[in-house]
Amino acid sequence: MKTYEKRKGNRKFDEMREIRAEVGVIKSADGSAMFQIGDTIAIAAVRGPRELHPRFLQNPQTAILRCNYDMASFSVPERKRPGPSRRSVEISLVTGKALSQVLDLAQYPNTVVDVFIVIVQANAGTRCAGITAASMALAHAGISMKNLVSSISVGKVGDKIVVDLDKDEEDFEGGATDIPVAMTSGGDITLLQLDGEITKPELMKAIELAKKSCEKITEVQKKALKDFYKEEK
Ligand code: ADP
Repeated sequence: MKTYEKRKGNRKFDEMREIRAEVGVIKSADGSAMFQIGDTIAIAAVRGPRELHPRFLQNPQTAILRCNYDMASFSVPERKRPGPSRRSVEISLVTGKALSQVLDLAQYPNTVVDVFIVIVQANAGTRCAGITAASMALAHAGISMKNLVSSISVGKVGDKIVVDLDKDEEDFEGGATDIPVAMTSGGDITLLQLDGEITKPELMKAIELAKKSCEKITEVQKKALKDFYKEEK
């Protein structure tokens, strides 16, 4: 296995790229947020809860959460073919599962909550950035939720366990081990995917690193939400 010596910009192996977060970026939505980590930028907009049509799709016990993840065609150096793909369908599905755990959807029977995530710039970690932005947008929309959800990718690049892989690291030596993780601010894991190979002790180390990083992201999410309401006054 090749040793991985140095990260771009002298970033430490347990250091995330620079983070920026803002709430209320889309005026026409009921809730919205932007989350940037390095060169990856996700925008999330929430519509709802609103009555679901056609009515036979309604559930009298709960609201239905619909998530839609999309990468803009201009988000990557080579134009990405617009429209849904197997990848976007899969990411939309796991995003919904990662978020629904914290939402009290039973409060909104017969309705739908739509979450739209658009990746406007992609340099790895887009599903994680999308989940983190969507969680802030749901809070901003005033949807009842027990906790926030934050998400980060960890993994193994060469011989090192690292947090927040960029695209070059994901592609290191024909492909690093990439582990997107999402966690609630209560410490529960709501997403854990694994692409590649890793030993059990290394995986435990990576999850511990994800946990510490998610705690840091939660602080940034909370600050963005607080700042929005401070400015409102
Ligand atoms: P994630 O973005 O959650 O890490 P992937 O591992 O599937 O999900 O994708 C890794 C990265 O590969 C993306 O963040 C993006 O930079 C790049 N990528 C994904 N799909 C495309 C595409 N169709 N064209 C160009 N680059 C892409």
